[in-house]
Amino acid sequence: MNYAFNLIIFTLGTSLVSFLTVIAHEYPHIKPTRRSKCDNCQRTLTWLELIPVWSYLITKGRCKYCTVPIDRLYPLTEFAGGTFLLVAALTHKNLIIIIPIFTVLTLLAISDHLFGYVYLTHYLLFVPIIIINNQHLHFIPALIIYTLLTLLNHLNKGIGSGDIEVLTILAFLLGLDMILKIILIACLACIIHFTLTKKIKFRFIPYISAAAYLCLLFW
Ligand SMILES: [Zn+2]
Repeated sequence: MNYAFNLIIFTLGTSLVSFLTVIAHEYPHIKPTRRSKCDNCQRTLTWLELIPVWSYLITKGRCKYCTVPIDRLYPLTEFAGGTFLLVAALTHKNLIIIIPIFTVLTLLAISDHLFGYVYLTHYLLFVPIIIINNQHLHFIPALIIYTLLTLLNHLNKGIGSGDIEVLTILAFLLGLDMILKIILIACLACIIHFTLTKKIKFRFIPYISAAAYLCLLFW
């Protein structure tokens, strides 16, 4: 029974990331009846090619028709999503809070990764989390983070307004201690990425989100 439950939670995580990837790609022109297609040859994908993670393994990472490689980021992020929810469930985290935070951060991260901006309407997804978590909100830390990052942005235009907004909302939800850990881990990840690739410009929200997932699991 436990195995079945774990498999359901893992599949829920992978499917959620797969669904959010489609939403981020299509937003704001989402068509519920649209069938997924190969990005290269536009062939409509079969149901077997739509199973998160497994379809990548079954097709050996290529489109069956045009054989163009599928971006590895899709199965990797789906796998990471499944693993995150599974570890959260196994370590008895409050899934009522964890799943909504994971959903909105993943959507923002994919949007930022794909387009370099996030839609303000996506922030509305934080509202239910704020309502559920209304006993544990952190006004002062949010104000501190917003003021410091806005000042820093005036001195050196390195931080995007979306990054400031997301960090402020996370400080509001999670408190000063958590947000400082999130910023530290996200910056460390950027430094490691820079050391490996010499890339100097980063879309920061994917790093913030990944750091937030780690902090939510381990603190
Ligand atoms: Zn194709």
